[in-house]
Amino acid sequence: MSDCLFCKIIAGEIPSTKVYEDELTYAFRDINPMMPTHVLVVPRQHLTGLSAADEASDAVLAACLRACAKVAAQEGLTGGFRVVSNCGDDACQSVKHLHFHVLGGGKMTDKMG
Ligand code: 5GP
Ligand code: ZN
Repeated sequence: MSDCLFCKIIAGEIPSTKVYEDELTYAFRDINPMMPTHVLVVPRQHLTGLSAADEASDAVLAACLRACAKVAAQEGLTGGFRVVSNCGDDACQSVKHLHFHVLGGGKMTDKMG
């Protein structure tokens, strides 16, 4: 996807602070962190969001979740962490490339919505 911000980040055309990568995923620090640790995990494959999950292989989807766990371990989030994937307008998804926010490093509110 030539006009997708996260595809450009994955391709290295836009700089990012890499936290983790493997064959199927790339993880980098959010430019506007909401928590002491705020990392975005994205599949290398362009998918518009979780609603397009059927377009991805099980391997890609599993790799995203595994990468979230690896990021949390690497960042030392022993007290816990939260994974969020905003999908669509009601959830205020702003970048239309599937991504998982990995948040941690402090106590979060119990409000999910
Ligand atoms: P969404 O609102 O779609 O769930 O999350 C998009 C996230 O991407 C936001 O938290 C935003 O701060 C982050 N973001 C937007 N543009 C950039 C960028 O150019 N670089 C990085 N590292 N993060 C970005
Ligand atoms: Zn993309």
